[in-house]
Amino acid sequence: MADTDVDADTGAGDGSIRPCHRRDCDEPAAFLALERYQEETGKGAVEAEAALCRDHAAEEHPTNLDGAYPDYVFRVEPLPEETDDDDAS
Ligand SMILES: [Zn+2]
Repeated sequence: MADTDVDADTGAGDGSIRPCHRRDCDEPAAFLALERYQEETGKGAVEAEAALCRDHAAEEHPTNLDGAYPDYVFRVEPLPEETDDDDAS
């Protein structure tokens, strides 16, 4: 299957644990990969996000370099961890 599918997910940031974006993986996501590129059609910038577990985030790489432009972005950033008040002194 293509690994370049672009999710148009909205509603992120509700604090719930996200599963890894890879279909064959049921690890909880620990990183968010973001790629911003320009659509070939010239309609403007597109942001593709994928929440990934650590192993898959390590494998993540730019997939839309053909759409690179001055504001092109590819980055992987850690997702905020669930906050456990295990030691709130
Ligand atoms: Zn994974």
